[in-house]
Amino acid sequence: MTPAQSRLIDAVRTALGPKAVLTDPADIEPWLHDWRGRYHGTTPAILAPDSRDGVAAIVALASDHGVAIVPQGGNTGMVGGATPPADGSALILSLRRLNHIRSLSPADNLVIAEAGVILADLHAAALAQGRRFPLTLGARGSATIGGLVSTNAGGTQVLRFGTMRALVAGVEAVLPDGSIHDGLAALKKDNRGYDLDQLLIGAEGTLGVITAATLRLVPAIAARAVAWVGVASPEVALNLLRRLEAATQAVESFEIIPADSLNLVLHHIPGTRAPLDGNHPWHVLIEAVATDQAAEPPAALLERLLAPALADGLAADAVIAASEAQAEAFWRLRDSISEAERGAGPAVQHDISVPVATMPRFMIEAAAASEAAFPGTHASAFGHLGDGNVHFHVRAPIGIDPARWYAEDAPRVTRFVNDLVVASGGSISAEHGIGQMKLGELERLSSPARMATLRAIKRALDPHGLFNPGKLVTLAPTPATP
Ligand code: FAD
Repeated sequence: MTPAQSRLIDAVRTALGPKAVLTDPADIEPWLHDWRGRYHGTTPAILAPDSRDGVAAIVALASDHGVAIVPQGGNTGMVGGATPPADGSALILSLRRLNHIRSLSPADNLVIAEAGVILADLHAAALAQGRRFPLTLGARGSATIGGLVSTNAGGTQVLRFGTMRALVAGVEAVLPDGSIHDGLAALKKDNRGYDLDQLLIGAEGTLGVITAATLRLVPAIAARAVAWVGVASPEVALNLLRRLEAATQAVESFEIIPADSLNLVLHHIPGTRAPLDGNHPWHVLIEAVATDQAAEPPAALLERLLAPALADGLAADAVIAASEAQAEAFWRLRDSISEAERGAGPAVQHDISVPVATMPRFMIEAAAASEAAFPGTHASAFGHLGDGNVHFHVRAPIGIDPARWYAEDAPRVTRFVNDLVVASGGSISAEHGIGQMKLGELERLSSPARMATLRAIKRALDPHGLFNPGKLVTLAPTPATP
């Protein structure tokens, strides 16, 4: 621990009491590694305030003492953004104790939730008032509102409701000098120049700490139906989506899953079973909802729309969940893919987007090109086809030493895949952010204009680089990875 860190810790204890500082290694250890186990950090302390003013006091003290901090929510991020540096040079600032829902107005369809509120708890609170927050993802039991805002998270309902950017009506944050930006008022019109709320959304804790957000709600659903469909290819899947979209606005989720990913889930996740008999190269999970009791029941709607698709061969086979338990079981297959891949050995993940119409071809051609360039690897993509966003994963050859793969081969694979993405007019980060994982690739593949502007914003708000150092953008250009 440096002398400055030690002084800061004492000052925080004096200002906020002993509960606001954790220094026992057993309390700290679980928060030093990212969810995938790719990044490992160290820190002498976790600072854990329970109020906005507590955050402001800590940030002001950290600025005075020149100590770097890493904001952390549920630690479910996929790019190492919440993992502290390995050299122990930063303290973790945990937002998990800021976990109150300050207000929930069904009449206004708005909720003000503090940064540490867990997504699943927000879902439950909204539902209790006949509303829902229409963003969900596999990590909903741990991911926090602050993390979701800070990564501009997406998930499985973006098709209809957009990412966090579309769902955040206002942000409250502590800026790097300890001052408070109060943007919680949900104004339909506000033209006071640069949009600070939107600047903080997706900033990954590099420009300040989100302490609360005003979020948009929609009516709770009256009924939902979940279908599992076997299709011949991503192109056919997209055609099916287009046909459904032309007929109804009730489709909220449309997720594509290759046979390979389904097989991994069936192999590694206990209690799972395939929804369809027979082998299908690709699968699609579709959810349709009704918010109005008088509307056509979603199961009848999906049956009516899928029947012609089955008849003319667009869908090879389909099943509609017969119960809520079966619907949950279908979703569990989708939500467990990342978990199953963790059990399947070393792999390198790419959360990428390309224009929607280009995606089916990209999925096939990029996987073939990648496997040809790196013999023995296996490439496949799953996810949010209708958003033009898939998780393109390349698994290492069987039997390879994981340490060698991650150190030598994985970076080459990533550069190869990212070059294909850029050549297709896409983005190397669709929904997970940059964190530490994509820092070098962002630098390599971004225009000078983008990098100079990111850096100028960072320098203006955080001139000493104390907020989440080594993530998203650094004050000086990052050297290219070899
Ligand atoms: P953390 O991991 O703690 O932090 C993420 C980043 O935000 C870090 O840079 C951190 O410094 C910063 N941060 C956290 N809180 C604050 C704050 N209050 N103020 C400022 N900065 C802060 N993501 C998707 O977008 N779509 C998906 O479909 C999806 N599926 C997932 C499935 C699984 C099984 C898992 C494990 C993750 C998935 N994720 C997905 C990634 C992850 O859940 C999201 O990135 C989520 O937003 C992270 O929230 P968190 O609270 O865990 O944040």
